[in-house]
Amino acid sequence: MTMQNVGRPTRPQAASQSGHTSLTGGRGLLQDEALIFELGGWDKTGVDLASADHDASDLGDLVRAAPIGLPGLSEPEAMRHYVRLSQKNHAIDLALYPLGSCTMKHNPRLNEKVARLAGFGDLHPMAPQSTVQGALALMDRLAHWLKTLTGMPAIALSPKAGAHGELCGLLAIRAAHEANGQGHRRTVLVPTSAHGTNPATAAFVGYSVVEIAQTDDGRVDIVDLAAKLSPDVAAIMVTNPNTCGLFERDVIEIGRLTHEAGAYFYCDGANFNAIVGRVRPGDLGVDAMHINLHKTFSTPHGGGGPGAGPVVLSAALAPFAPAPWVVAGEGGFKLVEETIEEAAQGFGRMSAFHGQMGMFVRAYAYMLSHGADGLRQVAEDAVLNANYVKAKLSPVMTAAFPDGPCMHEALFDDAWLEGTDITTLDFAKAMIDEGFHPMTMYFPLVVHGAMLIEPTETEPKQELDRFCEALTALALAAKGGDVDRFKGAPYLAPLRRLDETQAARKPRLTWRPEDKSVSPAPLAAE
Ligand SMILES: *Cc1c(COP(=O)(O)O)cnc(C)c1O
Repeated sequence: MTMQNVGRPTRPQAASQSGHTSLTGGRGLLQDEALIFELGGWDKTGVDLASADHDASDLGDLVRAAPIGLPGLSEPEAMRHYVRLSQKNHAIDLALYPLGSCTMKHNPRLNEKVARLAGFGDLHPMAPQSTVQGALALMDRLAHWLKTLTGMPAIALSPKAGAHGELCGLLAIRAAHEANGQGHRRTVLVPTSAHGTNPATAAFVGYSVVEIAQTDDGRVDIVDLAAKLSPDVAAIMVTNPNTCGLFERDVIEIGRLTHEAGAYFYCDGANFNAIVGRVRPGDLGVDAMHINLHKTFSTPHGGGGPGAGPVVLSAALAPFAPAPWVVAGEGGFKLVEETIEEAAQGFGRMSAFHGQMGMFVRAYAYMLSHGADGLRQVAEDAVLNANYVKAKLSPVMTAAFPDGPCMHEALFDDAWLEGTDITTLDFAKAMIDEGFHPMTMYFPLVVHGAMLIEPTETEPKQELDRFCEALTALALAAKGGDVDRFKGAPYLAPLRRLDETQAARKPRLTWRPEDKSVSPAPLAAE
């Protein structure tokens, strides 16, 4: 068994819990798999090119003298390598993926089919606008749906992730303050339960961050908020539903107090799937909100893959939106590219070009296939599923906020593990042995040993039952003193427990042939 370079599992661990080992390092039908550099010889290739008539080179003495060192593989070898690696990982197509705050839900294949239509998939961002009218029309329709669903008058489509959307929103807020002679405002208020991107974004824009306390029932402490609002505050950043999976009951009052203090209300809209079709953030006093298309509107994500984080803006912030945006005119659709004329006050651009076209197409296909009533049901099912999980697991685990229903996430703390010598981390690792991806752990920070479960709206009852039965069995084992099951977990995963600190602090990012003999990095559990 090896822990390769950056701690990614590449090989099944041979020893199983029963102590039985295979002779090859394989496990059942899962193959042992080496790094691609260990597999491919420099002299091998998957293509058969005719040799050139002459091999004169214009490069003179710059011609490479030694092999480039890239691994060569035949096509079936390359296929098998990546399929074998993919089998060692979890995927939403395999089972429930309960990672709280991430909305790991099923991505309908229809979206993929539509995104691959040549008229969308093969476009070049520099194609003349007259030749891409259909794509611009789609962006216009998507913008219309997002503005309608949020009740907000303006939108910037170009941000490429939720965090990028936060940056866009705060840059618009800063531009608005500067335009209104309020450029001296230096502070952004953020609740203690906020996603880490919120304070990071505020700091990146140059604001100092001040925390707002939380009430015992997991909401923004409005008294503390009122005390901290001052002529120095530029904005508040509040997630709704918040990262405890709870709706901010006082959201209208939060907006009112914020505006009264001359600040703007940024809403982190990553959890929009819990309220889409039911609540319009524009009605709550929100000035700017990003929408993670890759969460709420089912475009694929994970592993840092492409996302899209359009930002809706209130009338007060609309003039400061970044370029580009789509306008419909007599001659067809036009992308306003420059922050001049129509966009005189815009703060600039978030990125080259217009944003993630593939995500726009997928999100729009998802909206059309659901319809307005279907999107409303998305929110209802997301909340229903989370409450089902909360109710099913509350007898054996401790809900962090037991009173009343939750929104789209069920949050547990580790009070129920007290006296077992088992931690949230141990419990999460044992879930892997049972075939489930762990939930989000130790976030939000305001809950001790937090376990944040977001089942999402696309899980059927059967799968929720399977998941809850597995967690119930594990919880009973933990309370029954079966400590080894947890402390050593995972036993059955491709790799055991990695020393993640070492992997993060001292990553080995290169590979040389002599590394074959290097012993694996130490494992924390052994
Ligand atoms: C996912 C998430 C973000 C960040 O979104 P990215 O697309 O990952 O940048 C911000 N806030 C909350 C609450 C989130 O869940």
